[in-house]
Amino acid sequence: MPDSASLDLRATSKVELHRHLEGSLRLRTIIDLSREAGVPLPGRTAAELAPRALLVSPVDSLEDALAGFAIAQSSIRSYDAVRRIAREAVEDLDRENVRLAELRFSPHFLCEPGGLDWDGAMDAVVAGVHEAVDAGCDVAVGLIAIFSRDYGLESARATVDFALRHHDQLVGFDIAGTEVGFPPRTYRQVLSPLLDSGLGLTAHYGESGPPDYPREAIETLGVARLGHGLTVAQDDAVRDLVVARGVVLEMCPTSNWLTGGVASVAEHPVRRLLRDGVKVTINSDDPGYMGIDLSHEWEVARTEIRFTDEDLRTVTRTAIDASFLPQHVKDRVRARHFVWLGEGR
Ligand SMILES: [Zn+2]
Repeated sequence: MPDSASLDLRATSKVELHRHLEGSLRLRTIIDLSREAGVPLPGRTAAELAPRALLVSPVDSLEDALAGFAIAQSSIRSYDAVRRIAREAVEDLDRENVRLAELRFSPHFLCEPGGLDWDGAMDAVVAGVHEAVDAGCDVAVGLIAIFSRDYGLESARATVDFALRHHDQLVGFDIAGTEVGFPPRTYRQVLSPLLDSGLGLTAHYGESGPPDYPREAIETLGVARLGHGLTVAQDDAVRDLVVARGVVLEMCPTSNWLTGGVASVAEHPVRRLLRDGVKVTINSDDPGYMGIDLSHEWEVARTEIRFTDEDLRTVTRTAIDASFLPQHVKDRVRARHFVWLGEGR
């Protein structure tokens, strides 16, 4: 294959493994939902709201970035709202030709402002995804339940129970939220019922925490994938462990820059890790909140990180292989949409 930059990145079929439902809200939708629910907003139009509701320039810490979610979060007050944001998230994936996607959400975080029942919210998310697919969106969607570390162990237990209860409608389980001070071993016990559940396990580690966290997540939790795993690049032994175990990194260049994980997108270690044999993927994380999409991340991978088209093929093959969706779904989607990858794996 020639290595010239010839792919039309928006038109090319893509795979998204790491996208938060709560980070995917359109500004227009935040305004509509807030208005319906009588929630005050710091702006009446999308243009007025953008400076307050979007994260478009770096903040001091991951914690500061997470705090900025409040405006989007507080607009979600009903099951109809949950259904709408799920439907629109799939419409947005379809519009930029993402054909295989995993959407993740934290039931605790999602349901908190409206006092919604977690099971009711699960039904609403599934209904929203189905609405989009029934309306013609050509996206195979897998759902991942998230436990947010900030909510404590009781919430972790409840989220594990939730995931087991809905394991037919989910493909995976994730740990997210504030990282430093919450080492993986904290969750070893509480996650153990998931081990035989058939759900894939991923965890946000190595986004702002030390390389020891990704190492521990692999050794004690047995994660198949790591959300970000940025600090894996800071420790050769941890990098070698990631390679040896075949752990896949869900990397999100613009998000990592905005939350202070890297000083610039150009300095993102994803290309170096790829050259070192690490299984890396490129993802958007929070496209609504960060004003981006996956096509944008591919664009910066090409222009800032110097990814070749062959690199984009490699990370896309990796993403399909690493997706928690069932194999027969992945085979069907690959045959239908990913001819551009060629025959290699
Ligand atoms: Zn994330």
